[in-house]
Amino acid sequence: MDYTNAKQRIEQLKAVLWENSRKYYVDNAPTMSDFEYDQLMHELERLEAAYPEYATADSPTRRVGSDLETPGMAPSEAGFAKYPHKYPMLSLGNTYSVKEVEEFAERASKSLDRSFSYCCELKFDGTAICLTYRHGKLFRALTRGDGVVGDDVTENARRIASIPHVLKGSGYPDEFEIRGEVLMPYESFERLNHERELNEDPLFANPRNAASGSLKLQDPEEVGRRGLFCTLYHIPVGQVDYPTHDQALSAAASWGLPVSDKRQICHSIQEIEAFIDHWDKARKDLPYATDGIVIKINELACQDTLGYTAKSPRWAVAYKFKAEQACTPILSIDYQVGRTGAVTPVANMEPVLLSGTMVKRATLVNEDQIRSLDIHEGDWVYVEKGGEIIPKITGVDMSRRVPGASRPAFPSVCPDCGTPLVKPEGEARWFCPNTQGCPTQIKGRLIHFLSRKAMNVLAGEATVEQLYNLNLVHTPADFYSLRESQLLMLEGWKEKSARRFVDSVRESRKVPFERVLFALGIRYVGETTARDIARHFGNIEAVAQASREELLAVPEVGEVIADSVLAYFRSPSAQTEIQRLKAAGLQFSLASQAGPVSAALSGKSIVISGNFSVSREEMKALIEAHGGKNSSSLSGKTDYLLAGSKPGPEKMKKAAQLGIPVLDEDAFRKLLGPSEGEIPSDGPESLEPTLF
Ligand code: NAD
Repeated sequence: MDYTNAKQRIEQLKAVLWENSRKYYVDNAPTMSDFEYDQLMHELERLEAAYPEYATADSPTRRVGSDLETPGMAPSEAGFAKYPHKYPMLSLGNTYSVKEVEEFAERASKSLDRSFSYCCELKFDGTAICLTYRHGKLFRALTRGDGVVGDDVTENARRIASIPHVLKGSGYPDEFEIRGEVLMPYESFERLNHERELNEDPLFANPRNAASGSLKLQDPEEVGRRGLFCTLYHIPVGQVDYPTHDQALSAAASWGLPVSDKRQICHSIQEIEAFIDHWDKARKDLPYATDGIVIKINELACQDTLGYTAKSPRWAVAYKFKAEQACTPILSIDYQVGRTGAVTPVANMEPVLLSGTMVKRATLVNEDQIRSLDIHEGDWVYVEKGGEIIPKITGVDMSRRVPGASRPAFPSVCPDCGTPLVKPEGEARWFCPNTQGCPTQIKGRLIHFLSRKAMNVLAGEATVEQLYNLNLVHTPADFYSLRESQLLMLEGWKEKSARRFVDSVRESRKVPFERVLFALGIRYVGETTARDIARHFGNIEAVAQASREELLAVPEVGEVIADSVLAYFRSPSAQTEIQRLKAAGLQFSLASQAGPVSAALSGKSIVISGNFSVSREEMKALIEAHGGKNSSSLSGKTDYLLAGSKPGPEKMKKAAQLGIPVLDEDAFRKLLGPSEGEIPSDGPESLEPTLF
């Protein structure tokens, strides 16, 4: 590669790696497999070694990927206090080849003038955590952050059952840090994604992303429900007085800390290889994900001599397993119609175990993908789980193709309503254009409308199916005219379930405009975009009348979204639907749901805990609408703890310790003034808060 090309390629690789690092660590939604990412990183390392003049200090080869949110990128993670790490939290050099592990061992022995051993451990695939114990009690838990500063997730860590609040035994330092990984076992992961699927929340791609997303939740009680666990593997050098890493870990285990017993002392590269071979197979039976083996020089004095690079210790290396693959035959292909009419081919396969879960369906993405993989009916296919949620078919075992097998015929008509499919320009997918008549699309839209992040009505897919089949509901507005007596026609429904449903529908009238806009199901308008558009325009009329240019002025709204919004509001059926929903009393402007914005809480830092008469998001929006600031953890700077029913006991305790006033919902609403917007004549301080 010549000089100019090398420079260009380095810049290109840096941009791609940073972008994917953000998707992985901050959004918890990677779109590239780890293997691909690591190959690009190694290419960058090689180029920077060959052209050191282009190796800048901000290169991803020299910095650990950061889980700290970047302004405007991950609102869900906003609000964690940040603290510096006492010792930097680094990454690990990694390799996919045993030969490079040998090279690591050779380098170490050249630099060390004494004999040493290796401590081989599992490489747990979760999210890193650093725990500080002070006087035998859990004092603080930080994420890796950018390696220098981490997010304070102490309240969340306290909800992870395997993390002890108090140490047992004796001999631990008065204050010390210990590091490890927070993991989500496969079982909890499956349960969580199943719940999310029912609620139509985006699914987590894998247990690592689920663990990392859960550790950054603003609701410690929810963290407690996620079934996370922790395993610890490192006490930074200098804090405990043991000759080896292994002995330090055994001591930590004796203090009640969760340390894995699946580690082994090895004395030769052959023993290391045997450990790798064993776990490459045996890991498939573990209840949690591992993505490799970590090989560490065991003697702490040797670790000290070898030291660190800017990004990783020189005394350890990670051997990474290749993504697990399985080979299984395709039994049939379904063509699924989504609520937007897009048709996705999905392969039904002979069930096969892959990364701890049984896989029987995999997406074939679209017609082009079927063609490029050259899929034939009955083919044995390789299935992989990369960064994606749904397993992907990555290839065909040609040696097992049945002679004479034919290519699957992509349908020319909608598999549900029989309407001829269309492929709009620039789209790789086929669509059913019968938006108003295709039952699958209609039911899909109704389910989306009721979902938790939209109107949050207590009903699932089965209810929608019945309501539709009984001809009771055709569009979302129909939900608002349903009577309890009609609901008794549903199979198994009694007065109580009917009343619950009607109450829930009535309650949904209070759902704020931004979520109503999301509930309308405009193509490409997800939760965040709906919020941005709602906040930008303030009411539905302004959105409906907005020009393309005006829509493009909304941050994050590009041409595809703008055109989709324009097309939606031009449609006569959408116009009628909005009129009917307005008549039903739904919120179609920001002002009507939050009341006039006031300064009643100006400068006040408020932490919320427990359940309220409206969702926590709405309570948070109310705080912000009145000038307050939401904060996730209590500190000396917190003005109020806003406690609903079942507040977190730790938060209540801490508020009492710090002397922070606790408000219940009524007291809070009084604080906002009679119309939820006026500043009380004698200011917020005039209220007598409850001190617990
Ligand atoms: P890493 O995951 O490769 O290895 C370092 C981490 O391993 C440590 O920080 C620690 O958290 C963990 N670990 C687990 N078990 C351990 C043990 N027994 N001892 C010590 N540490 C242990 O490194 P990373 O910096 O966290 O992440 C970089 C990797 O993440 C990349 O190599 C890539 O595979 C992946 N990544 C993927 C994408 C993507 O788009 N797919 C993007 C960014 C990063």
